[in-house]
Amino acid sequence: MIPTFDEMSYDEGFGAELQCPNCKGNYLHHDRVEIFERQEDAKTGIHVTVENGSSVQDTSMAGNPSTRRHGLNIFFWCEFCDAVPVLTIAQHKGNTLVDMDFTIDKNKKRDLP
Ligand SMILES: [Zn+2]
Repeated sequence: MIPTFDEMSYDEGFGAELQCPNCKGNYLHHDRVEIFERQEDAKTGIHVTVENGSSVQDTSMAGNPSTRRHGLNIFFWCEFCDAVPVLTIAQHKGNTLVDMDFTIDKNKKRDLP
């Protein structure tokens, strides 16, 4: 789904506040970032995950939001509901695709790729 924003902070010069795709709350916390880099259509590349004060690197493209090229995943949890959203940025040919999806988990845990 298309990410939505609350524009309150935008007027104050801090940028727009990203909203939870489930409850539209503006208290989202990002706690994991994944970066995927590869040559076009390559089966492997560079995959870096930053979480809990450390980073891990491997060559897996599992979880890459781009089917052919680079991608980013930013994982969130919502302070107001049980949503565990992920904001994705995918390179697709000449386009950059932005998407946001979520799962519901009362424990705020998600499946690792
Ligand atoms: Zn929410």
